[in-house]
Amino acid sequence: MSDITLTILGAAGRMGRMLVAAATRTPGLRVVAAVEQNGNPEIGNDAGLLAGVGALGVPVTDAASAPPADIVVDFTFHTAAPGNLANAIAKGAKGYVLGTTGLSPEERAAVESAATKIPVVWAPNFSLGVNLLFDLVQRAAAILDSSYDIEIVEMHHKHKKDAPSGTALGLAEAAAKGRAANLADTAVYGRHGIVGERPAGQIAIHALRGGDVVGDHTVIFAADGERVELAHKASSRSSFANGAMTAAKWLAEGRAPAIYSMRDVLGL
Ligand code: NAD
Repeated sequence: MSDITLTILGAAGRMGRMLVAAATRTPGLRVVAAVEQNGNPEIGNDAGLLAGVGALGVPVTDAASAPPADIVVDFTFHTAAPGNLANAIAKGAKGYVLGTTGLSPEERAAVESAATKIPVVWAPNFSLGVNLLFDLVQRAAAILDSSYDIEIVEMHHKHKKDAPSGTALGLAEAAAKGRAANLADTAVYGRHGIVGERPAGQIAIHALRGGDVVGDHTVIFAADGERVELAHKASSRSSFANGAMTAAKWLAEGRAPAIYSMRDVLGL
């Protein structure tokens, strides 16, 4: 069987380099296009050398010069997602792996509309461990009633541009689902000033930033007399990149246009 070909968008970024490296480690996958935004200083340089895996013979290009590929992998910037998806559809890609976080409601609507034409695996976090955590949090929230206060704390490196993290929002969604609650009605993002007593049923989300932390998430269920904490700590971006490769291979098996989660890919 011939290799599944990949386009890696944002190939000079922190995740882009990891994705190029993960693809070269994964049998059956081949990077044929590495894309950066116009004017990026890495355009023209070999994507494999940038990723630290040796020359691949694939130069970083702008989107217009990139050859087509089976699957497009996008970990870039929220404003770029709608245009990147339109390009992938125009070039006849069979699937799209979307890891970019921080999308506005309009950008999310554009993803949903594109997913009527191309299958999209869209996840705030591609690691197996975090996707297991989504499940555990949903179950814990269903078992522990609203006398258990849910507080979610995340910490990321100082370069991260959006807050809270997409993963923290995913965990909050999972907790709300477990409680059969609507997150929009129960969420609070950080606290400051005379906020009064904590109402039962609230789901609070707190974002810490500093140093080079890859991604820590803790979901706390605090009641009178005891506290349950479910936590995940990422020590390398390779866990996300490997998950994205799993998603790319799953899409290449042939899926109908729709939005899929990593839980669909992993069969959780
Ligand atoms: P980064 O800033 O290091 O890299 C992003 C790269 O994308 C940059 O090199 C930038 O030039 C490039 N880019 C921007 N617009 C582009 C476009 N239109 N076409 C091509 N390239 C473009 O950021 P990062 O740390 O690599 O994170 C990227 C995104 O991935 C963020 O939204 C982050 O939150 C998300 N992320 C998701 C997961 C996950 O598992 N879902 C894990 C880690 C990071």
